[in-house]
Amino acid sequence: MNGNRTFTMIKPDAVEKNYIGAILEKINSAGFTIKALKYTRLSRAEAETFYAIHKDRPFFGELVEYMISGPIVAAILEKNNAVEDFRTLIGATDPAQAAEGTIRKMYATSISANAVHGSDSDDNAAIEGGFFFAQRDIH
Ligand code: ADP
Ligand code: MG
Repeated sequence: MNGNRTFTMIKPDAVEKNYIGAILEKINSAGFTIKALKYTRLSRAEAETFYAIHKDRPFFGELVEYMISGPIVAAILEKNNAVEDFRTLIGATDPAQAAEGTIRKMYATSISANAVHGSDSDDNAAIEGGFFFAQRDIH
């Protein structure tokens, strides 16, 4: 059975372009409820830990530099079938391939600076949410 929580970040490019409000509005309009929310900035060590699964990929260095280039918004979201439905809402990793109306199609800059993160599984949603939020931050 699919879980009802996922984790997202509004990434530095979208924050820089003042898209926080527009993206949160799209998330709410799609039926997701915000369970936790934080405006913060990753250290290099935190970005390397968060994306450790990609450490052998050619784009890892670029990804870490980009993710520490400015502040982000981190959030835990709730909806039935949250992980899969949120991946549909954000669209393909490369905004050039993302479907019309998706967050990445509307707000992303490039395959690296692609506006938002979305967890890829229930297990990772729990791990990633726990990376940013204590139990007392989740309501
Ligand atoms: P997604 O975020 O869609 O789950 P991945 O988990 O494959 O995508 O990659 C994590 C992040 O790494 C992407 O969101 C993007 O910021 C960056 N990335 C992925 N592929 C590339 C690439 N080919 N070149 C540059 N950056 C990339
Ligand atoms: Mg991923």
